[in-house]
Amino acid sequence: MKSKPYYIIGPCAAESREQVLQAAQAIAQVAQNLHGSTSESKSMSTTANTIFRAGVWKPRTSPESFQGAGDQALLWLQEVQSTYGLSVATEVATPEQTRKALQAGVRTLWIGARTSANPIAVQEIADTIADCLQAGHMTEAVFVKNPVNEDTALWAGNIRRLQAIDGIRVGAIHRGCGHRPCWRMVYTLRHLMPEIPILLDPSHLSGDTQRVAPLAHKGMDELRLDGLMVEVHPTPSKARSDAAQQITPTMWGELYRSLCDTCSIPMDEADELVWLRAIMDETDDRLWDIVRERMQVSKEIGDYKRAHHMPIIQSERWDSVMKRRKIWAENNGLSIDAIEQIMNAIHTESCRVQE
Ligand code: PEP
Ligand code: MN
Repeated sequence: MKSKPYYIIGPCAAESREQVLQAAQAIAQVAQNLHGSTSESKSMSTTANTIFRAGVWKPRTSPESFQGAGDQALLWLQEVQSTYGLSVATEVATPEQTRKALQAGVRTLWIGARTSANPIAVQEIADTIADCLQAGHMTEAVFVKNPVNEDTALWAGNIRRLQAIDGIRVGAIHRGCGHRPCWRMVYTLRHLMPEIPILLDPSHLSGDTQRVAPLAHKGMDELRLDGLMVEVHPTPSKARSDAAQQITPTMWGELYRSLCDTCSIPMDEADELVWLRAIMDETDDRLWDIVRERMQVSKEIGDYKRAHHMPIIQSERWDSVMKRRKIWAENNGLSIDAIEQIMNAIHTESCRVQE
């Protein structure tokens, strides 16, 4: 299915008809300006690689949060297609939502990270898409986000459930785990399924407006992924969901233009070393987050010791911590000397934090 790049752009949620149309107009304008067409031209070809996204039904963590505008938003998406010539996409989490979206003419669907954690739900969606295709409802593409838990086999399994349907294109979207990338998952999926386009979602991946553009560049310029899903809202600060990560249409315009400059370089595959270094940098980020967490526990222990008039250094405890780690080093094929040095450095810092 590879045909690059795919840009799935729009607000996290469809909030109102005005908000959806305002976002779509700005996004269509960005796509058309870049392709040098006149403002009267609304042909599909000028906006061909931009698909407009908006969540109709939102799977929110809290029941008190905005749950999406629901069925009525399908009409707004239809209006986007007819007015601006943009293809539209939405997230589906149930067979009922899938049927309603396809019946309303939404031809690109995505399966979100929470649904992707549940293979039964994904199979039910796949079966519904197959039924709808039989009934004559067009489906162009289905994108599958990685599950929030770091399970590449489940991600690939979900993709296979959709690939089993004749006549649709299937892609993957990496949205990270929490607010960090899991490059190892993407690296593994690329090797397992080289024919699958993989898009990056720097919005959910970072949860932070400021980090969207740098991550988008990393995904496209360095790692040579096949496209982006980016949350773009006319007024991000007023967004009813994911306000902290949405960018304005102007910011999207700047990002789109800068991506296209680098896209003029042939889109080769990124080499293995680039991938392995991305995995290493991300592993280091996690490692140091854990070290910071350890120092936080250390500080709490220091407060406890002070409150209970206990000495900071308790050699018996330290000996048992070190002994346990040396056994672990041996069992895991790591140098006992190296682990001892690292542990001593951590302990020195830990004592400083407890003082
Ligand atoms: C979304 O794309 O708005 C969304 C809910 O994403 P995710 O499933 O990645 O959290
Ligand atoms: Mn969102």
